[in-house]
Amino acid sequence: MPNMSKYKTPVPEQNPEVRARNFEEVTLGYTEELALAEAARCLNCPSKPCVSGCPVGVRIPEFIKKITEQDYAGAYEIIHSTNALPAVCGRVCPQERQCESRCVRAKNGEAVGIGRLERFIADLHQDKDQHDAIIKKTDSNHHKIAVVGGGPAGLTCAGDLAKLGYEVTIFEAFHVAGGVLMYGIPEFRLPKAIVQQEIENLKSLGVTILTNMVVGKVFSIDELIEQGFEAVFIGSGAGLPRFMGIEGEALVGVCSANEYLTRINLMKGYREDYDTPVLQSKSVAVVGGGNVAMDGARSALRMGAEHVYIIYRRSELEMPARKEEIHHAKEEGVEFLTLQNPVKILGDENGRVSGIVCQKMELGEPDASGRRSPVPIENSEYELPVDTVIMAIGTSPNPLIRTTTQGLEANQRGCLLVNESMMTTKQGVYAGGDAVTGAATVILAMGAGKSAAKSIHEYIQKKGK
Ligand SMILES: Cc1cc2nc3c(=O)[nH]c(=O)nc-3n(C[C@H](O)[C@H](O)[C@H](O)COP(=O)(O)OP(=O)(O)OC[C@H]3O[C@@H](n4cnc5c(N)ncnc54)[C@H](O)[C@@H]3O)c2cc1C
Repeated sequence: MPNMSKYKTPVPEQNPEVRARNFEEVTLGYTEELALAEAARCLNCPSKPCVSGCPVGVRIPEFIKKITEQDYAGAYEIIHSTNALPAVCGRVCPQERQCESRCVRAKNGEAVGIGRLERFIADLHQDKDQHDAIIKKTDSNHHKIAVVGGGPAGLTCAGDLAKLGYEVTIFEAFHVAGGVLMYGIPEFRLPKAIVQQEIENLKSLGVTILTNMVVGKVFSIDELIEQGFEAVFIGSGAGLPRFMGIEGEALVGVCSANEYLTRINLMKGYREDYDTPVLQSKSVAVVGGGNVAMDGARSALRMGAEHVYIIYRRSELEMPARKEEIHHAKEEGVEFLTLQNPVKILGDENGRVSGIVCQKMELGEPDASGRRSPVPIENSEYELPVDTVIMAIGTSPNPLIRTTTQGLEANQRGCLLVNESMMTTKQGVYAGGDAVTGAATVILAMGAGKSAAKSIHEYIQKKGK
């Protein structure tokens, strides 16, 4: 029987007051009963508009139909055939802007909870033996490919190539693969054990991952080619934080969201049995309005801050963060100071942050981004006492690879240039994800890794002729 409820089947969550002080996952996921109820909302439309909204082309109605038939292994096989990181995507993809935005049910109520169902199926198959029983390794075709960076773009490219029989080696700068999934997105949104399990599953396909390998320092791209890699994919992300260039940014207590989150997530700064120093703050200003800002603010609360402010120069309507993240942050007690912009950070006699001066803003005409632009209101500055300032105003690609590789061109923002086949300006060297687009989303990075894998396969086949 189809479920004609206008609304998504609610998903259980941790109580906001409790979760605001712990790093356990906020959203608990569907039980089998809830998943079956939600799957029954899918109309299985012949035109499948949801699939065209997914950058990796997951066959959504097909996997949901398998759920209604309680064939969960069948659902997993369908999802995994195009998406190597379903437990990740089910949790962090902006489905409301992609697959779910095209769902016919959204025309008169809420879209089918596609992300929640994807997560349900992926979580059921987290066990490696179960995964390996369904997804089989392909025999080697003896062609070697190097992938630089073990984030979603690199992992997807590697997984797709391994499925075609390529011998793929990922070179990852950090001591662990996963990219932003490991160092950026906090444990309470995306448990690290889940990311590592999906990476283990990729290894079962035959992908080799070498960590602590900063390409551009340990080996150059040219040296990788000399070592016999027939093509290289660069998925090195956009990990270089931006600052505002205002007075006081060098004070102790100012840091980028990337640094703050890396210390907490990757270096386990939130655990007492680890020695990673993290700022112990009472009052924190997080500058920015994207997912990164929400993650920084919610992490600061969990690290014990009494007051955490989001300072954003436009109104809440223009905030780029996912609605769900804004909602969760508010529920947990993050205070939103919208239409305000920092103009100066204040310090005490020891060079530590003691406050931030903000100027009030109003909205003017739309700018190049299509959003109404913030216009400063004269003489509206005021002081907000804080001891920590976290800058979450964007990132750009790290210049290391570009500056150590001859023939690799980039645009003014430092993003690598690629053609329609994802090949860079250097023959046989491909790129995708944030390294090409600048900071974007997990699923777009995965889509780019997928397209590049297809192009690399065509390139190798042509070379062989
Ligand atoms: C805090 C935060 C929260 C986010 N939340 C969301 C969200 O909820 N939903 C969403 O869709 N997106 C989110 N994003 C964006 C998303 O995570 C990124 O768009 C995505 O991870 C980009 O994937 P990537 O593979 O291109 O790069 P990355 O994930 O950055 O991975 C690049 C990898 O390359 C490695 N690397 C870099 N240089 C070198 C080198 N020289 N040699 C070897 N390895 C190198 C890095 O260590 C890293 O592991 C968030 C981003 C951040 C920072």
